[in-house]
Amino acid sequence: MTDSPVLLIVEDNARNLKLARDVLAHVGYGTLEARTAEDGIALARSQRPDMILMDIQLPGMDGLEALAELRADPATAPIPVVAFTAFAMKDDRERFLAAGFHGYLEKPLNVREFPGQVADLLASANAEAQT
Ligand code: MN
Repeated sequence: MTDSPVLLIVEDNARNLKLARDVLAHVGYGTLEARTAEDGIALARSQRPDMILMDIQLPGMDGLEALAELRADPATAPIPVVAFTAFAMKDDRERFLAAGFHGYLEKPLNVREFPGQVADLLASANAEAQT
């Protein structure tokens, strides 16, 4: 019996944060929350979540800067980070993947599809980590 994966949600919009947290908790994931990239990075360092859902547009440091900082720290570099974004045009998606995001999730999130999308992203991140 292994523990449930823990997901860190970094999102400044209270409604988006609550919805993501509630859906993930409902299907059995552990959740951590931050409203800024700075707080998210601190939580990632102290709690080592299994995956991070990272908003791009944040007050202060943005999601792309946060990704770079997480990657630069050996303690957080292995944690897969998924862009959690409202503006996922094709160019944006390619830009996020090129920047090192493991994938992306679009907002507004689809409550029915979200748990499966997260499970797929966790599974593919684990598969990559083992090769
Ligand atoms: Mn935002």
